[in-house]
Amino acid sequence: MGALEIRRRIAAKEISCRELVEEALQKIAATDPGPDGIQAFRHVSAETALARADALDRLPKGDDALPLHGLPIALKDNLCTKGIPTTCGSRILENYIPPYDAHVVECLERAGAVVIGKTNMDEFAMGSSTENSAYEKTKNPRDPARVPGGSSGGSAAAVAAGYVELALGSDTGGSIRQPAAFCGVVGLKPTYGLVSRWGLVAFASSLDQIGPLASDVTGAAMLLDAIAPHDARDATCIPRERPLYTRALGEKPTALRVGLVDAGAREASPTADAVDRAAQALESRGHRIRKIALPHLQYGIPAYYLIAPSEASSNLARFDGVRYGHRTASPADMLDLYMRSRGEHPGGFGPEVKRRILLGTFALSRGYYDAYYLKAQKIRALIRADYEHAFQEVDVILTPTTPEPPFRFGERSSNPLAMYLSDYFTVGANLAGLPAISVPAGSGPLPTGLQITAPSLAETRLLQAARLIEEIGAGAA
Ligand code: GLN
Repeated sequence: MGALEIRRRIAAKEISCRELVEEALQKIAATDPGPDGIQAFRHVSAETALARADALDRLPKGDDALPLHGLPIALKDNLCTKGIPTTCGSRILENYIPPYDAHVVECLERAGAVVIGKTNMDEFAMGSSTENSAYEKTKNPRDPARVPGGSSGGSAAAVAAGYVELALGSDTGGSIRQPAAFCGVVGLKPTYGLVSRWGLVAFASSLDQIGPLASDVTGAAMLLDAIAPHDARDATCIPRERPLYTRALGEKPTALRVGLVDAGAREASPTADAVDRAAQALESRGHRIRKIALPHLQYGIPAYYLIAPSEASSNLARFDGVRYGHRTASPADMLDLYMRSRGEHPGGFGPEVKRRILLGTFALSRGYYDAYYLKAQKIRALIRADYEHAFQEVDVILTPTTPEPPFRFGERSSNPLAMYLSDYFTVGANLAGLPAISVPAGSGPLPTGLQITAPSLAETRLLQAARLIEEIGAGAA
């Protein structure tokens, strides 16, 4: 139905918030739990959601002040929710209940949304398949033998399974867009600094952004409107007025200049067809297609996998068994407390998180800093310059979201490098701080995504272009 239509029915009192929430909870109870279920949710807050729905139902008819009035929403489990467990997919936070709400959660409250629960994710958002979760194995609702993508796999699956129209994820190197592509839904990573990260458990602070996953582009715009208000508690949040993205969606972009990347060896990827078809469809409607070069994008993966782990190794130092989460039973001394709380199984960090901490600590250490971390930062600057150059000639850039359609469980999990390559097309936007969106495309039996990237703070243009592609069904054969 889409979030907008549901919102209309609620406002017209054709359905009540309670009915809507009950329906979502029933669907979840019927198909989500257990090893054969989708297992999108880590935690479902049925009682609070129903109480909130009742409170919203008591508001006067047609109250337009609440843009997300009564809409059930799922939250990735790295967003702090007061009184609701927030595990980050990690054993180390198994019993953590935050004493406060993240900025985006406060925003949702103000917008009238109903938080249904918290969704599964790769541990500390490190991964591309949600297989790194220390908990359940989230299935791809489009094909349960395949992964939902990651790290926001639970949020993408919750939308694809029809439990909710809207969900929040976080994206450090592709974690909103890649699972959106794998599950056949829309996923948007905003410009770095558009959405406050206050209350998002940090992975790599210079790359992390919170953003919407939705069943359609309009839903993504509605959710972005709700979470974008400026917040001074995140010093990187850009103090500038935000446009109303849903309003901008009503306007059609005239003659867009669309850039296609000459992707070299990657051009033959199975997802490239969808880009060609979309480009043709756009061209036949009067938009202009241009080839552009992003010559340093090929170094995106190595740069990202040095910068992100470096920042993570520093951010994750706070999980030391003293203030948060798991603490080992009877430590011999302080050092032993740190080492065993973080390292022991079960209770401590999982293998991928340990790998990242080791990688990051190494890259930042004396004697290696210049060769690894600093060099990666130089590549980051070159990638940013590539985009700036390209955006002098085009308005948006069109690429596949992922090199391949969703893979099967276990297919990549034993080979970290193969897993890292899933992020080939997505890390660029994070390294350059740009907004990017994945919209469903492809005609095969498996979902794939088209990625549109726009200049900094050009979310309006990004959403308009995404809506255009959605409307003309570009990418579908
Ligand atoms: N797959 C990437 C990683 O493992 C990106 C994760 C993310 O965006 N949170 O780091």
